[in-house]
Amino acid sequence: MSDSIFIPHKDALLLAMEEKARKDYIPIIKAEVGQFLQILIKAIKPRRILEIGTAIGYSTIWMARAMAEDTELVTIEKDEEMYLQARENFQAAGLADKIRPKFGDALEVLPYLGGEFDFVFIDAAKGQYLNYLELVLDLVPVGGLIIADNVLYRGYVRKSGQIAHKRRTMVRTLQEYIEVIQEHPCLESIILPLGDGLALSVKKSYIN
Ligand code: SAH
Ligand code: MG
Repeated sequence: MSDSIFIPHKDALLLAMEEKARKDYIPIIKAEVGQFLQILIKAIKPRRILEIGTAIGYSTIWMARAMAEDTELVTIEKDEEMYLQARENFQAAGLADKIRPKFGDALEVLPYLGGEFDFVFIDAAKGQYLNYLELVLDLVPVGGLIIADNVLYRGYVRKSGQIAHKRRTMVRTLQEYIEVIQEHPCLESIILPLGDGLALSVKKSYIN
């Protein structure tokens, strides 16, 4: 649940999805992140949105509800059960014609997507963020935005000192992701302490 004093409006579908996510331990975005994505999408009016990590489609629905009439959203999920649930939720939301769900591992799907995406939301396996970024950079035009969720991972990424063994690799990868986007010659980046930590990177040039 959000501990924000500013509580975004949620309809019955989003509330039911939050309940499902809570019961099944599915790590969905915080509602304030959903609202922030909506504000960005309404302001930027991207033509094509790419999401990596659909789960049950909660973040997808937040984003799709903010899209302009002619915007398309492609979302990738590698877990078949999640993928199927997400499809049902897109139907229930009346958004099935605006969202193209893809079933598969993003690392295998991304090279075959084709076309450009001017708004990318990365929210899949934390240990693979750098691999996603490498593939995504080829799909994003100059001026395009790449957003990564959970980059502060419950505060562990900023903490110094001992980190439990099971989290160490994930935390290290997220620290590396932050380092790479801050030093990358094509990117201008900022980390926002919103939700579980959001990294925003705009592509400023093609030079790699
Ligand atoms: N974006 C969702 C939450 C995604 S949870 C929301 O906020 O509502 C992360 C999801 O990424 C999980 O469902 C997991 O199965 C999926 N995932 C993990 N690695 C992946 C990969 N390499 N390719 C595609 N999906 C992946
Ligand atoms: Mg997330």
